Amino acid sequence: MLPDYFQFSLPTKVIYGIGITDQLADAVQSFGKKKAILVTDKVLRKAGPATRVRNGFSDTGIRIACTFDNVPPNSTIATVKRCAALGKKHKCGLVIAVGGGSVIDTAKVANLLMVKGGKPEDHMGAYLLDKNEALLPSIFFPTTAGTGSEVTRVAVIADPDHDVKLPFTEEQFLPSLAVLDPELTTSMPGKLTAATGMDALTHAIEAYVDKEWSPASDALALHAVHLICNNILRVCAHPEDLPARGAMLVGSFLAGVAFSHSMVGMVHGISHALGGVYHIPHGLANALVLPEVMAYNLPHRRERYADIAGAMGIAFPQLIDGSRSLIANSRLGIFNQILAPVNNVRDWIETQSNRARGLAAKAVDNFEFIDDWVRKQTAAAAVEKIRTLNRQLAYLTGMPLNLKAAGIDDDLARLDQVADTAMEDGAMLYNPVEPEREAVIRIVKKLFRQKIKPLPVTEDDLKPPQTDRRDQRMKNVFKDQQMLYEVLMGFYETLKDHPDVGPAIHQTGLCVQFVYRNPDGVITIDASGDKLTVVKGEFAGRPEVTMTMDADFAHRFWHGRANLISALTRRQVQARGNIPKTLKLLPVLKPAYDLYPKYLRENGLENLILGSLKR
Ligand code: NAD
Repeated sequence: MLPDYFQFSLPTKVIYGIGITDQLADAVQSFGKKKAILVTDKVLRKAGPATRVRNGFSDTGIRIACTFDNVPPNSTIATVKRCAALGKKHKCGLVIAVGGGSVIDTAKVANLLMVKGGKPEDHMGAYLLDKNEALLPSIFFPTTAGTGSEVTRVAVIADPDHDVKLPFTEEQFLPSLAVLDPELTTSMPGKLTAATGMDALTHAIEAYVDKEWSPASDALALHAVHLICNNILRVCAHPEDLPARGAMLVGSFLAGVAFSHSMVGMVHGISHALGGVYHIPHGLANALVLPEVMAYNLPHRRERYADIAGAMGIAFPQLIDGSRSLIANSRLGIFNQILAPVNNVRDWIETQSNRARGLAAKAVDNFEFIDDWVRKQTAAAAVEKIRTLNRQLAYLTGMPLNLKAAGIDDDLARLDQVADTAMEDGAMLYNPVEPEREAVIRIVKKLFRQKIKPLPVTEDDLKPPQTDRRDQRMKNVFKDQQMLYEVLMGFYETLKDHPDVGPAIHQTGLCVQFVYRNPDGVITIDASGDKLTVVKGEFAGRPEVTMTMDADFAHRFWHGRANLISALTRRQVQARGNIPKTLKLLPVLKPAYDLYPKYLRENGLENLILGSLKR
């Protein structure tokens, strides 16, 4: 089923990579020469990400003219004003944000003030800017894997005088570039990792079940659920696990794009109110409210919650649907083949089997309720999974499991204010069920009082570690041209003589030239003649393909650690000539990835072997 109408756009360029902050030159080249304001906070300045990003711009045309590092968690309108004043004073033409949602949202609204002037409150609302009114270009570096603010049109800024969080929505808030570097998130303490991760999960789940769903956001939301549920416990147990941190960051980004198109619902309505009235951190409020609202919405969105359960990895068999398709597809194929020449016998068998299939299908139809029941249980299991996750996160990080422990110390004296604020929140409009004030009160009361215990986590709950690719940053492997030639020429000669590789390369008949940079060098592998030859430097013939790359890239490539296709997209490798034909070489070269570290070891170059291959 499709909705009557939907639209989808993401003008932001997104780049992802472990340690990519240190390699910004290419990605920011199109910004040209710019004076920038860097928006961040004191914690991030101390923890490292802010300095890391500042250094990342050092060899680019972008100059950081001033830094605003006074953003508090749940940033305020006064903060935004001060930030905009600083950017204006330094006549900045670019806004860079390094931080969680509070920092990025501050940068968005400060940008608006720098261009349009006035007070933040003047700009509260949705799509007040004309379509062709531009803001300053911006680059966002998220340091939490939670809000997805780096790819949303939304900013949420607190107005502490009125205990509310003000929403701002503009198409122009989307940055020109979002940089997803998992290394910027490793300094997050456990509780923050847990709460922000649950925030991202909430975005994905609300985007998938609420009224404005669309096929594009559905696809993003389900994959986000999959990534987050598979990695959230692991990042809390092993904060330095970069691939798991990466999965969380990508999950948060996908969830951000999803909810930016589908909007969020009642969970956010209530947690915005808890943030505004009681200053409960946004992610934590979402984590606690999420299972309660899921249970409230469940009867109206069972199918969708069952899909979410599937994305979480909860599998219940579809007994009847599966049986029906088995029956429909069953064929007495073997008999048909044997009896092919005896037409009347074959027809008789076909008729009988059709009749049997019809009877079986009818019988199965009568049991359809079993599938309905299974789907219901699956959907309910999704709610239970969230409750379990919260308890496990509490075990791993000390995340509070009720609102009292989260900081409400007035015995919920302002419950009515929470309910009123929540009922006025825009997110409530998109909830699949019309939210009732009574339900809000019931949920908040329950969350205030509930006494549930943290749940121990076993090794089985934690996914195994994935490969850590920090070794990608082994730099300047070959000291000079002489070393480059010694190592690579020696290796290519080994390949040439290897019985599994040499003849296979020769068979391709290709002549491929590698042009290396840093240090410079040229090596040609020529399989076009009677003999396979490897030529150093000047080559008299005409190579079919020339590939230019950094020598460090070649070193990673021969470890089997570099993807040539994505390297071409990222312009880490430039290729001239018949590229598709060259790519056919890749399967032939597979054994070389094991041979290269072996060759290095045998030649006393063990120190050059990358990370986990050292043994
Ligand atoms: P946050 O930005 O408020 O940060 C919370 C704390 O974590 C801060 O003290 C910060 O310094 C610290 N921190 C952040 N990254 C860190 C790191 N790598 N290492 C150590 N400390 C780190 O937290 P958040 O959850 O990312 O953002 C919450 C805000 O975002 C709320 O105001 C919420 O309303 C808003 N929000 C915005 C959107 C959107 O689309 N614009 C969506 C959801 C939430």
